[in-house]
Amino acid sequence: MAATTGIPVEQELNPWLAAEARFDEAARRLGLDNGLCKILRTPSKEITVYIPVQLDDGRLEVFVGYRVQHSIARGPAKGGIRFAPDVTLDEIRALAAWMTWKCAVVNIPFGGAKGGVVCDPRLLSEAELERITRRYTAEILPLLGPELDVPAPDMNTNEQVMAWIMDTYSMHVRQTTTAVVTGKPLDLGGSRGRSEATGRGCLIVVNEALKRLGLRAEQTRVVVQGFGNVGGMAAKLMSQAGYKIIAVIEIDGAVYNPNGLDIAALMRHRKQTGSILDFPGGENIGREEALLLDCDVLLPAAKENVITSQNAARIRAKILCEGANGPTTPLADQILAERGVFVIPDILANAGGVTVSYFEWVQDRQGYFWNEELINTRLEEIMVNSFRDVTSYADKHGVNNRIAAYMLALDRVAFAIKLRGIYA
Ligand code: NAD
Repeated sequence: MAATTGIPVEQELNPWLAAEARFDEAARRLGLDNGLCKILRTPSKEITVYIPVQLDDGRLEVFVGYRVQHSIARGPAKGGIRFAPDVTLDEIRALAAWMTWKCAVVNIPFGGAKGGVVCDPRLLSEAELERITRRYTAEILPLLGPELDVPAPDMNTNEQVMAWIMDTYSMHVRQTTTAVVTGKPLDLGGSRGRSEATGRGCLIVVNEALKRLGLRAEQTRVVVQGFGNVGGMAAKLMSQAGYKIIAVIEIDGAVYNPNGLDIAALMRHRKQTGSILDFPGGENIGREEALLLDCDVLLPAAKENVITSQNAARIRAKILCEGANGPTTPLADQILAERGVFVIPDILANAGGVTVSYFEWVQDRQGYFWNEELINTRLEEIMVNSFRDVTSYADKHGVNNRIAAYMLALDRVAFAIKLRGIYA
């Protein structure tokens, strides 16, 4: 059993326990009363739906879907929908709470939600996916609405899935309601800058961390794990901003160049060959070796539980910017804190995505669309302010950035609940 987190080492990778450990510490430090803790720990609504669908070969199948609204204290519930074979209600619950904290950290007027359908999209045709999406939407329809609950893409869902959800909802309410989901195609009320937003948010908070630590972009060596939406975009924008990306880690291996990789060329190479490996501008190295390279910034942007009690003591980065959700376990947190690593926690670092989702929702409701420059300026303003809010909280309360981010979020949500009072 680990002393401070209370999490047994063998349960280190459980995301629900990780979220609870951080919640408990933040609540204790805030001196939050027991009643409010009970409210904040408990989802406000959960629904399980059974989705009958006719497959292409004529067979009938029943899929299971969930939607959990963790909190609507600060505004409509907001959070993605994932399609995966191993989705569980517990996982969706933890992710819904995470959304509440993330929206509160960046101070946007949303609560938190998450949804999922237990299915394997690799085994389904496009037509089958469409039927699953539409029937799932119809089943959870009473929960949805621009003022109620606004889904977005998550694992294995995309713009097209959002377009089907928007259309299904609109057919039921008899009017085109683009603001019911975000992450839509640009031609259907999507926002400019959405696909780059999470990577851009990472760049903005790393720029702020550099200022705090007295470093300059040109002297800063970065290792990026995951070359997808978040990591690929962060690597591209950071290299354009003068950072030296010395390694990129992907699922099949890593590429390394101590003088900096040409990220645009690496993207072209991956497009042509299907892999980042054997890139002429770098050398292949092992994934774990790359994670442990001497660097200034480590940007995990692939998956959860990458930095654990097994490798945290060997991480040599000065700054850890969590592009992914949950890449660091609570046991690893302790080790990184002892070693003085400056951690930009996920609920701050990757909040650029939900921030531009908020912009998309605002534009849809205004019926007036902003240009990319305005989106990026407003994103920058929110990310910089949020970074400063979190670090001021950390300084004021003598806690690390992660606990500070949770304290800030809990404080904001608890304050909204207190102001509203309890309806009886
Ligand atoms: P993505 O699928 O576009 O990219 C993930 C990349 O990581 C893929 O290229 C994949 O091959 C690679 N990868 C998977 N396992 C790996 C491993 N073990 N080692 C190295 N690389 C590996 O996904 P994404 O949208 O970029 O999301 C990445 C992370 O960021 C997730 O944790 C997601 O929840 C989080 N996130 C995404 C957004 C967003 O706007 N897309 C917003 C907030 C948080």
